[in-house]
Amino acid sequence: MSKFTFQLSATDGRARTGVISTPRGEIRTPAFMPVGTAATVKAMLPESVRATGADILLGNTYHLMLRPTAERIARLGGLHGFMNWDRPILTDSGGFQVMSLADLRKLTEEGVSFKSHIDGSKHMLSPERSMEIQRLLGSDIVMCFDECPALPAERAQIAESMRLSMRWAQRSRDAFGDRPGHALFGIQQGGLEQDLRAESAEALRGIGFDGYAIGGLAVGEGQEAMFGCLDYAPDQLPSDKPRYLMGVGKPDDIVGAVKRGVDMMDCVLPSRSGRTGQAWTRRGPVAIKNARHADDPRPLDETCTCPACTGYSRAYLHHVFRAGEMISGMLLTWHNLHYFQELMSGMRAAIASGTFEAWEAEFHAQRALGDIERV
Ligand SMILES: [Zn+2]
Repeated sequence: MSKFTFQLSATDGRARTGVISTPRGEIRTPAFMPVGTAATVKAMLPESVRATGADILLGNTYHLMLRPTAERIARLGGLHGFMNWDRPILTDSGGFQVMSLADLRKLTEEGVSFKSHIDGSKHMLSPERSMEIQRLLGSDIVMCFDECPALPAERAQIAESMRLSMRWAQRSRDAFGDRPGHALFGIQQGGLEQDLRAESAEALRGIGFDGYAIGGLAVGEGQEAMFGCLDYAPDQLPSDKPRYLMGVGKPDDIVGAVKRGVDMMDCVLPSRSGRTGQAWTRRGPVAIKNARHADDPRPLDETCTCPACTGYSRAYLHHVFRAGEMISGMLLTWHNLHYFQELMSGMRAAIASGTFEAWEAEFHAQRALGDIERV
């Protein structure tokens, strides 16, 4: 079986481009990973997700362990076959989602016990159980089980939580074992505290991982604070391994993260927005429900080659959204995922040719024009 490798091919400033190779295929970086929470990227067939240019999907341990359960998916041959996606899958550890359960969970050194949001049944997640679930799912990139405190938080609390996550990172590493072709990523924590981030990175380096995630950001701190942290956090992690910023984000967040040396990102935004009538375009977000689109025969974006833009007018997209038709979510999700992947491919090409700065200036110039002005 071939191995999991990461090969950088070019850098431009702090931005990097390269390829992650896995037995299930290559992942071009910087990469955007659509989120397939419940073994589906909502409103999309897997082949349609692939057609947008996605090399890898993200699945959620928390949701899949509750329904239909990891054991059932394993009996049916694993997540890839179950959801009909044969390319790489990254699964999160469940840590972030159980954190958001607030008063439904109990945290100890051992792990987190919690009640299902579906039926109130009792469950336990620990580093060992998270590794077992992600193995049963057949995940290609497995994430360490960690604790992610909500921001803002007291420094002492962030430090304590980070050190717990580092002990869990060692337990995750031990439980993961030796699985050729599969990767385990560590997760850096430490909030917005540079020295705690450094301590976390040092601990993770000491354990040794196939890739390193920057966790605990995009949790309400705002873009300025996030970029402030990304001004140093990626460089605290090994440069020869992929760096993954979890849960990011809006297009301008993504561009700013890539500029600061991030290789991988994931976010529900393009698919969630697609279902709520928001399109993301090079001119910024467009609310398709607005009356100004009702008689507009033009596509969402005349430069976009997705099915929503090549086959349908703004007037039609406006109509099916207002009428509550399913095709509304399907077309807008397709467009949004296509736009996000075009963004990544544009950045990869710009980094490879050493023109990232000019590319970024054009990105911001287009957005500054805005959608409303383009008549
Ligand atoms: Zn489009």
